[in-house]
Amino acid sequence: MEDRFARHEALLGAASAGLAHKRALIVGVGALGSASAERLTRAGVRRLRIIDPDRLSPSNLPRQTALHEGDLGALKVEALARRLKEIDARVIVEARAARATPEGLPALLEGVDVVLDGLDNFEARLWLNDACAAAKIPWIYGGVLATQGMSLTITGRPCLRCLMPEAPPPGLLPENAEIGVLNTLPWLIAGVQVTEAIKLLAGIAPRAGLLVMDPWRGEFEVRSIEARAGCACVAQ
Ligand SMILES: [Zn+2]
Repeated sequence: MEDRFARHEALLGAASAGLAHKRALIVGVGALGSASAERLTRAGVRRLRIIDPDRLSPSNLPRQTALHEGDLGALKVEALARRLKEIDARVIVEARAARATPEGLPALLEGVDVVLDGLDNFEARLWLNDACAAAKIPWIYGGVLATQGMSLTITGRPCLRCLMPEAPPPGLLPENAEIGVLNTLPWLIAGVQVTEAIKLLAGIAPRAGLLVMDPWRGEFEVRSIEARAGCACVAQ
């Protein structure tokens, strides 16, 4: 073990060295996904697959700490891939400038050990939920809105459809573009997601329950959730 990772090795033991051989998929590299990619790289995970169709705009900069003014206008996945290589030249980044779709997700999941959610809508998250269930790959939901963030680690049941069987109709939930988002929040939620990813990759049992935090109000809680009778995850 090289000195670079000695402090994780002290925590995780031999499992720390194994991170270099694991592959993580990050679906969406906005505020959450770019923060997750950076921390995973710094933790020593050497194979990252990232997907996002968007280019960096000025309104992204308060939250996307891995990207800079010099990246404005660039595809987020390409700018992020460059930054990750600067952090650790050995990281292998597969960058896809595309949107996650039900048809495309199965191929994206091939060879993946863990998935981190960086999406910004529930329709796509439920597609990801179903694709991960079919492939039996754990994934970590993360979402932020205004001053509230949530995260749930899904390794079978309960799943995201237990909480939300169908995506809400467009316009029902407010969007960050309308009501804003606290710029510290994505880092906190991404930190929780990456913590869970490292545990899963190291063979350590994940945390149960839905984490709900509002750092602006100083509220942090874990709500227990049950598998929902009739959900596809219960039948599997
Ligand atoms: Zn379920």
